Amino acid sequence: MSYMGNPFYNVFNSQKSNQFAVAKASYKKRINKLNALKNAIENTYKDAIREAIYADFKKPYAETDLTEIYPVIGDIKFAKQHLKSWMKRQKVETPLALLGSSSWYIYEPKGVCLIISPWNFPLNLTFGPLVSAIAAGNTVIIKPSEMTPHISKVMKAIISELFSENEVALIEGDVKASQALLELPFNHIFFTGSPQVGKIVMKAASNHLASVTLELGGKSPAIIDDTINLKRAVKRLVWGKFVNNGQTCIAPDYVFIKASLKDVFIAEIRKQLQKFYSTNAETSDSYSRIVNKKHFNRLVSYLQDAKSHSATIEIGGQTNQDDCYIAPTVVSNLPEDSLLMQEEIFGPILPIKVYENIDEVITYINTKEKPLALYIYSKHKRTIDKVISNTRAGTSCINNNVVQYSNHNLPFGGSNNSGIGKSHGYFGFQEFSNMRSVMKQHTKGSVEFLFPPYTTLKQKIVD
Ligand code: NAD
Repeated sequence: MSYMGNPFYNVFNSQKSNQFAVAKASYKKRINKLNALKNAIENTYKDAIREAIYADFKKPYAETDLTEIYPVIGDIKFAKQHLKSWMKRQKVETPLALLGSSSWYIYEPKGVCLIISPWNFPLNLTFGPLVSAIAAGNTVIIKPSEMTPHISKVMKAIISELFSENEVALIEGDVKASQALLELPFNHIFFTGSPQVGKIVMKAASNHLASVTLELGGKSPAIIDDTINLKRAVKRLVWGKFVNNGQTCIAPDYVFIKASLKDVFIAEIRKQLQKFYSTNAETSDSYSRIVNKKHFNRLVSYLQDAKSHSATIEIGGQTNQDDCYIAPTVVSNLPEDSLLMQEEIFGPILPIKVYENIDEVITYINTKEKPLALYIYSKHKRTIDKVISNTRAGTSCINNNVVQYSNHNLPFGGSNNSGIGKSHGYFGFQEFSNMRSVMKQHTKGSVEFLFPPYTTLKQKIVD
């Protein structure tokens, strides 16, 4: 198949020709690359990163430090700490029947990789996978989201400064650029985004049998029972829901609360919101905005739909289109067919559902697609165990939310509709590597005595 007309063929081909040179780079060279990336993010470009993400969606600098810069620096530090052992050949036992040989496997780079990233944590979700890809010895083409153009420009400047195009290249562009890239025969595609686009990526990958990592989304539930310290649970829940203006793949999408606690729960949320963002979040320096008008209008349509279904806006509901502002909003009494209960919200709107019995909650969750995250707040071990073992989710956190993302020792990713494959730390390194098995025959003989012709004696030995 000819790719000559593809606008990205030249850069792809240059990486293909260079992949073995990059793959053979020693441990030290890989560490040097990671150090250079760390220095660029932490020092040279730190201010530019903060300013760019603020320009894209008014994300406060402190939040950029906490949720963009710090996690990538953490990824790099973790990879540096462990890369030597990850790169080592992994010896395994050889069964007696294969006497006289030894066996091991090695993590070899997959080759030329594509990373397609979303806009919601534009630096973290682009450079995080890049760290794993570099650690594993690959060449990489990156396609960040067109919705956060300021930070894409800064990331492009970093990549152009640190890498030649035949090793790592960043291509700015929209869906068309993404589609053109997906035509090329990459060895691995690491995609972060919506389940709808994830299906498109997987279809395109199947043309070349490229392996995929799909980090997707969905509706992640939180459950709060009546054994927990409600004030503390609410504080954590409100942070997890409204950080990044609710535009977080693992944010609690909706929450189940014991029916008897509904009113006090809502009162606690109101108090906590005031503590975080004052009585008017629009004037708060700690509250980001919706990324663009398209997503603003999508969320406003969810609110209108809720009102048309006679749902109750318990808190918030105010919007300002000029600034893509939506107040922190809490909604109850939503029917199942409302958009807020059907679609991934990805914004600062929290639906509340009440329950009497934990079994109803489990049944409800299991009628939906497997969520990316599931949260349970409880002091009751049996309730926690019951929820975890009777539901399915990519990731869970008990008595908190979102923070499990920052443990590099944990695999991160969804299950089926919320994702395929895992990222972070060792799991990210694995994702960008092929586990190549090797067996070495040391002595003569081995199983050769079983080669044809199959005599009666040989047949007896096999039996
Ligand atoms: P998206 O799927 O619309 O876009 C992601 C990327 O895909 C962008 O770079 C975009 O240019 C590209 N793209 C869009 N349409 C395409 C098409 N038809 N063909 C090829 N490429 C296409 O997602 P988004 O709006 O940027 O991000 C929000 C979604 O991402 C949410 O569903 C969220 O849950 C999910 N997400 C998941 C994670 C995770 O780690 N699992 C993290 C962040 C976001």
